[in-house]
Amino acid sequence: MLTVNAYAASSPTAPLEPVTITRRDVGPKDVLIDIAYSGICHSDIHTVREDWGKIHHPLVVGHEIVGTVSEVGTEVTKHKVGDRVGVGCMVNSCRECENCLAGEEQYCLGGNVGTYGSVDRDGTVTQGGYATHVVVDEDFVLSVPESLDYAAVAPLLCAGITTYSPLKHWGAGPGKKVAVIGLGGLGHMAVKLAHAMGAEVTVISRSNSKKDDAARLGADHYVATEEAGALRAHRNEFDLIINTVSAPLDLDTYLRLLRLDGTMVNVGAPPEPLSLRVFTLFGNRRSFAGSSIGGIRETQEMLDFCAEHGIVPDTELIDVAQVNEAWDRVLASDVRYRFVIDASTI
Ligand code: NAP
Ligand code: ZN
Ligand code: ZN
Repeated sequence: MLTVNAYAASSPTAPLEPVTITRRDVGPKDVLIDIAYSGICHSDIHTVREDWGKIHHPLVVGHEIVGTVSEVGTEVTKHKVGDRVGVGCMVNSCRECENCLAGEEQYCLGGNVGTYGSVDRDGTVTQGGYATHVVVDEDFVLSVPESLDYAAVAPLLCAGITTYSPLKHWGAGPGKKVAVIGLGGLGHMAVKLAHAMGAEVTVISRSNSKKDDAARLGADHYVATEEAGALRAHRNEFDLIINTVSAPLDLDTYLRLLRLDGTMVNVGAPPEPLSLRVFTLFGNRRSFAGSSIGGIRETQEMLDFCAEHGIVPDTELIDVAQVNEAWDRVLASDVRYRFVIDASTI
């Protein structure tokens, strides 16, 4: 076993601190990755703060990992030492259920093995990417195109795929009007990706403070919800709405923005149950849906799409010593638009 440096909190309210954890020996199908950069997702904070339920502390979080392969198992064929690779939100699944066979391992009927906080096949609890190294089955390791800025690419592994997948599934493209609610980590990727797919993109943010950024990221229009009547002016307009907000919203207000057969997809994951009036769905035959990350094949497709279109997240690179401050800034929506930890400082 390999003992490695990591960062974790000892309780839901404690700051993150240095810890050491062990990684399993490299098995025949495993790769050992020297982590270079690790993104900070709002889900990391929800998890450690126990917004979604109790967890076993300390837990090392982080599921936007990029690094270099430094060792491979005897049966590994997909990756070799020196390759630039990534790991997202899953590190395994049953591989046998109909969803796994369809390449949608995120919806594994037995539950996928999350990159952190899941019981792995060997019975241990998985520990995530705020660490120097990780050992992962080669089938859940992505190839990261070398043309993408190494220090900025990590957030594609969660924020990128979580927005790419519903945009693709619900047909974002030329002639389609897509709205993105919340301009944070996921939201800014949704804007870049929907724009690259050829859709007409509207950002719905609370204030006008991100208006210039939205245009730079590729948005065609901008709505600040704090302005009276701002949303009402966009009723019956959008084919697809991607809601990335981490807190509860009044769904009916936003569903009314959908045109005939439009869909609002929730990727934001507030802990509270949400309610809506079914009559809002009756109007325009609207749909309300959810979407969880994306499968391995689609994640690779997304990375290749980003390489083709020259898309990387807008990031702020930090030393691990700044991680607690960064978490506070995520909670205050003061991130432009994803923090990435330089793993050499861990
Ligand atoms: P983030 O960077 O904090 O962005 C969330 C954005 O939501 C903020 O920038 C803010 O945008 C808006 N917002 C925050 N609080 C709000 C409030 N009270 N009312 C209205 N708007 C508010 O977070 P993230 O990393 O993008 O993650 C967003 C959510 O997606 C989290 O709940 C996360 O757990 C979830 N998630 C889900 C999946 C999945 O597979 N479905 C994957 C990853 C993350 P403005 O300042 O522009 O208003
Ligand atoms: Zn995430
Ligand atoms: Zn499965």
